[in-house]
Amino acid sequence: MQTVHTWCVVCGSDDPRPYQRSMYALRGRSFDLVRCAACGFVYVDPRPDGETLEGMYDDEDYYTEGYNLGVETESYFERREELLAQYDGEVEALEREVGGPASLLELGSAGGFFIEAARRRGWSVRGVELSPVAASFSIEELGLEVFEGQLELAPFPPESFDVCVADNVLEHTTDPLAVLGDLTRLLRPGGHLVVVVPTYVNSAFFRAARDLGRWLPRRLLGPKTLRLLKLDPSHDGGAPYHILEFDRGTLLRLLGRAGFELVSARGSVPRPAHLFKAATLSPAGHLQRLAFVVLDGLMRLGLLPGARLRVVARKPG
Ligand SMILES: [Zn+2]
Repeated sequence: MQTVHTWCVVCGSDDPRPYQRSMYALRGRSFDLVRCAACGFVYVDPRPDGETLEGMYDDEDYYTEGYNLGVETESYFERREELLAQYDGEVEALEREVGGPASLLELGSAGGFFIEAARRRGWSVRGVELSPVAASFSIEELGLEVFEGQLELAPFPPESFDVCVADNVLEHTTDPLAVLGDLTRLLRPGGHLVVVVPTYVNSAFFRAARDLGRWLPRRLLGPKTLRLLKLDPSHDGGAPYHILEFDRGTLLRLLGRAGFELVSARGSVPRPAHLFKAATLSPAGHLQRLAFVVLDGLMRLGLLPGARLRVVARKPG
């Protein structure tokens, strides 16, 4: 594996400051996060080379363990019915926001559950997915039209989609501006882009929890929550799947550079399965679950920055 030094993909500066040492590990090497002194963007530097990064998604374990830091109670594919039901609600909400049913492309369509939920509501759908395991599942099990590979190689005509979705994708890419450029070309004028990114690592929440260090109530939080908060020193932090860490400012800046107009931006926090699906919970577990519900409410009201951010943007035209 080669490593590559990169500069800030949001503002173009090469002025990295230390942010978090040894955040990730891959094949015996550890990887650090740095923060751009000019714009505050956080990223892995140096990062593994492109071939190594792409190869990480060939690993079948990505969809049983890697995708959720090992805290989901079932593998991704076993969550079929749960995810189809959840995405039906999300597509319904999308129809209220941008209209539809219409034609939709999902970049990073994984096992295809989101686009399948959209198809069942009358949308015309396509997917692009890097993981061979996930792409095959969506094609063979769900009968979807999914292109396995990089978006730039996908054979779609320009301006052929009304809506493009990239849910938890941009943080995995080496050149998100180029990805947004490809999506711009595929969207019809006036079409909408939905982007969801995690923003926790580049947030005051992570910095506060990290800086608490030994004052953190580790026993009360338990190993799963510590791992989810990326604060478990005995866990190697996993492979560097997320090589970019956005916050609201850097994501909106990048979308602006790609020519998009902002429609809406809303923060929230993912609900950890070990707290929200458990049959029984300890008193500490109940307390944590309540904390997540309260945080999520405050984030959705815009009173706190989110641990993830969902942005709807529009291609002018
Ligand atoms: Zn920067």
